Amino acid sequence: MRLAFNAAFAVVLSLLSCVVAAPAWAQGGPSPAPTATISVQPLAAVTAPASFDPLKATNAYLATVKGEARARSDAYFEGGYWLQLVDALYAIAVSALLLWFRISARMRNFAVARTRSRFLQVPIYVVQFLIVTTILTFPLTVYEEFIREHAYGLSNQNFMQWLGDFGTGFAVNLVILVISLTVIYTAVRANPRFWWVWGGIITVVFLMFLSMIEPVFVAPLFNHYYPLKDGPVKAEILSLARSNGIPATDVYEFDASRQSKRISANVSGFLSTTRISMTDNLINRCSPREIEAVLGHEMGHYVLDHNAIGLTWFGLLFFVAFAFVNWGYRWLVGIFGGNWDVRAIDDPAGLPVAVALITVFFLIATPIQNTITRTIETQADIFGVNTARQPDGFATATLKLSEYRKLDPTPLEEFVFYDHPSGRNRIYMMMRWKAEHLNDPDIKAGPVSPQ
Ligand SMILES: [Zn+2]
Repeated sequence: MRLAFNAAFAVVLSLLSCVVAAPAWAQGGPSPAPTATISVQPLAAVTAPASFDPLKATNAYLATVKGEARARSDAYFEGGYWLQLVDALYAIAVSALLLWFRISARMRNFAVARTRSRFLQVPIYVVQFLIVTTILTFPLTVYEEFIREHAYGLSNQNFMQWLGDFGTGFAVNLVILVISLTVIYTAVRANPRFWWVWGGIITVVFLMFLSMIEPVFVAPLFNHYYPLKDGPVKAEILSLARSNGIPATDVYEFDASRQSKRISANVSGFLSTTRISMTDNLINRCSPREIEAVLGHEMGHYVLDHNAIGLTWFGLLFFVAFAFVNWGYRWLVGIFGGNWDVRAIDDPAGLPVAVALITVFFLIATPIQNTITRTIETQADIFGVNTARQPDGFATATLKLSEYRKLDPTPLEEFVFYDHPSGRNRIYMMMRWKAEHLNDPDIKAGPVSPQ
């Protein structure tokens, strides 16, 4: 698990590097991998053009994933709901521990003893804070990211490989959080009353910068990226890219099989570094029709400027989050500050208070965050099918994603927990599109085999 600041940054970063199908709580590190494959059976009888019923076709697709495979992906995904709550409660408990045992105050005193510069006291405190919280949360991290992934047959890594990626992730987080928190605390000292406005602006600028350098400096630490190899698939993708005004050289492949078998692709970067990348798993496990469908979706993110739109929405959310921290901090420290030896809002020893408040805020805002991303993802799905014209390819790819995503949730479940449309809704969107295009020469009514 990751503490709140990490989690909040991770939410935005993962949005900015939109992954077709990774669950939110599994993002940040490398994605794990399903070893149990779901075989997508050809549809026995999709009805003839005259009576093509999108709902019936959707149900027929959903019915091809059944039994143990369906039960396991439901259990995996539903367990994730509880883990979000467990993560939040754990983060609050860790914060409480640091405050009530005055560990946080001691870390601040250590920093004050090292330097009289209030600017430099912040990074000295933050480094200690990150080491201590990473150690305290390590058991839960191992359970969530290693033990549980293996229990569901989703990971390809042995413990040492996982630990290597974990260590790399920690180092990256350390650099990011030390710099960003040092700058934010400078704003707090400069303007204690309205720091949260500056905090919001600093966060947005920082996230923009981070997402710009991420594909160039961070992603290669975990995976090897290379231009897509030549062949008919590449030719088709480049043609699709050209027709959508996307620079053709911006299609990359990376060795996600190092960590997992998950099929996915993503759009990452910002402005000049924006690029579309797909996993080697997508190439190896999917038919050309499915690959085109997935890439159409990713091109949708690119063309519709979803990075900028997502950043705008999450930027607004950060303003509200910091305003909430500003209010909650004064209230809590007013009551307990003496017990904790924590002072005004510019005291770094109060960081656990801020972390606990941000955790509560983003937990409550879960449906808002998911609705922002789910809306964007829906737009990309629709753009994708309009450009790739592969409704059945997208449907069968969606079924493959069901290895780790519940296919058919209740509407309330989808509203609260889904950062992408559910499998049912995605396939229904595709079948509805297909029903509207049955007279087009390139659209077959079916039956359609996944190849
Ligand atoms: Zn997407």
